[in-house]
Amino acid sequence: MQNYNEEMYGLGSRRSEIRELFEYGRQLAAEKGADAVFDFSLGNPSVPVPDAVIASLKAHHDNPGIHAYTSAQGDFEVRKKIAASLNSRFGAGLGADSLYMTCGAAASLCISFKALCNPGDEIVVPAPFFPEYKVFAEAAGARFVSVPFNPADFQPDFTALASAITPATKAVVINSPNNPSGVVYTLETLRTLASILEEKSELYGHPIFIVSDEPYREIVYSGEELPFVMNYYRNTLVCYSWSKCLSIPGERIGYIAVSPRAEDERAVYAAICGAGRALGYVCAPSLLQRVVAECADVRPDVDAYRRNRDLLYSELCAMGYECIPPDGAFYLFVKSPIADAHEFSELAKKEGLLLVPGDSFGAPGYLRIAYCVSYDTIVRSLPAFKKLKSF
Ligand code: PLP
Repeated sequence: MQNYNEEMYGLGSRRSEIRELFEYGRQLAAEKGADAVFDFSLGNPSVPVPDAVIASLKAHHDNPGIHAYTSAQGDFEVRKKIAASLNSRFGAGLGADSLYMTCGAAASLCISFKALCNPGDEIVVPAPFFPEYKVFAEAAGARFVSVPFNPADFQPDFTALASAITPATKAVVINSPNNPSGVVYTLETLRTLASILEEKSELYGHPIFIVSDEPYREIVYSGEELPFVMNYYRNTLVCYSWSKCLSIPGERIGYIAVSPRAEDERAVYAAICGAGRALGYVCAPSLLQRVVAECADVRPDVDAYRRNRDLLYSELCAMGYECIPPDGAFYLFVKSPIADAHEFSELAKKEGLLLVPGDSFGAPGYLRIAYCVSYDTIVRSLPAFKKLKSF
């Protein structure tokens, strides 16, 4: 008998493909110099942390009272402020007790899945998706079911989605702006999804939740506020994180918002609190709670990401790469010039270009380019992209 859990051993002894590439890049930089590596592997924001966030961190840091435990679901005043900010943006009618503070979107997702699912339940996810969803869903005892996208626009394939929903489906996870495609779901997509889920919930006699994973909500290039999912579908949980929009992924802070109109809303919130407790995700970092409450209305400077996107997109298209036009987040999804994206990624590595194959995102044959790097890195990487296209 093993003295450890075999499944956990499997997860811990194999790095994700993204991490694997990132570590390779570090090694290559140590051997050949940083200038020889164009690391497009990791979604680490390159825009500096906003001044208001730094000021708030400094101001609160010296307050000795701030380093104590808060309530398990987060400080009441913090939740009240964040709810007020969301209500003023979206008119969502959230209260302090609609929110559960977490250490980032990863925790928000793990808690939400655990709160909604019993063993054997299903979580349906339209591809392309953040690969960790599968890990989080399975850790909650659920079955992960992926459904294809429409390759013309990277919106979900609704016929496939509708037929993937069974009596065991507890939730559908959406992520817009999307990692890895950079695509923003249209209002029509949300409305169609809502009507499918209303029909299926009615048919199976229980609510099917939308879990809306939104760490890129504010990184959109249209300059417009994206629709707030719970305003279009009552049984919604929003999983949010400030990792990307405030460039603080290492600080681990986010929340879960339970729609005030959700069926059995108080019971769902209690299950969120219970799942947080069971997973040990109580009392999100207290200093950071105060900082994000104070900075709830601070927005990222998306101009640097826009500049990177415009250059990369136009240059790669001109070279003949088939690119999905990104409207948000900081990823460009590109069709692999050869059928096997893994093979292309290996060829790219030889040129110092680190591109993540789309397979683990549920989109084989594509490559993800995380363009949250310096503009200069993009400029210097273009000859390598050109050389690869001519193979
Ligand atoms: N969801 C998506 C789509 C992501 O891209 C990421 C991180 O890259 C996460 C969740 C996890 O975010 P966090 O750092 O807030 O845990």
